[in-house]
Amino acid sequence: MFDNVFKVIWLVGLIAGSVVRVLYARPHKKDSIRVDRQSRMDTLLMLLPTLGMLVLPLVYVLSDWLDFADYRLPAWAGWVGATVLAAAIGLLWMTHVALGLNWSPTLQVRKEHSLITHGVYRRVRHPMYAAHCLWGIAQVLLLQNWIAGPSMLVSSIPLFLLRIPREEQMLLEHFGQEYRLYMNRTGRIIPRFWR
Ligand code: SAH
Repeated sequence: MFDNVFKVIWLVGLIAGSVVRVLYARPHKKDSIRVDRQSRMDTLLMLLPTLGMLVLPLVYVLSDWLDFADYRLPAWAGWVGATVLAAAIGLLWMTHVALGLNWSPTLQVRKEHSLITHGVYRRVRHPMYAAHCLWGIAQVLLLQNWIAGPSMLVSSIPLFLLRIPREEQMLLEHFGQEYRLYMNRTGRIIPRFWR
């Protein structure tokens, strides 16, 4: 079970990330939604990361069922993982602060939606997805197991690859030139510091 400190750090990170979600993420009331692009495929694709960031790692941390697939990294790699996890949760928190009521777990535009281009959104369009990628990298370093370690990255990548272009198309249709100009000066997942 908790036979190494990095499993405990991963669990603390999960709790901290969940607290951020609960504090800041308020689902929309039905009548406040203007556009809803959530398809059945999106719902299915959202279940995959639940498996990869919650179910498999929890099974690994709370039982010894997956121990047969362990790998060993040097201790410094675990500490790098802890630092990356802290950065991921900090970034997740900042995205919620900046997005405020414009956040939604699915592809939606609210009636009083405004385009956020400040704070962590200034140089990158998808910092929340970037935070999840960082979390996934941290998990590989913290949970040193071939099943529970890479499961978050592997299960999130299909969702992001399919969702990002559709999300951008939806925001382009809604905000038009304002979003086009924003796209020109920002990176998708990696911040753009040049014009
Ligand atoms: N892709 C963003 C936001 C994820 S939350 C990120 O990774 O940070 C998903 C919702 O955020 C979408 O339904 C969309 O309506 C909204 N959204 C995405 N970018 C936005 C922005 N710059 N301003 C306001 N809302 C945005």
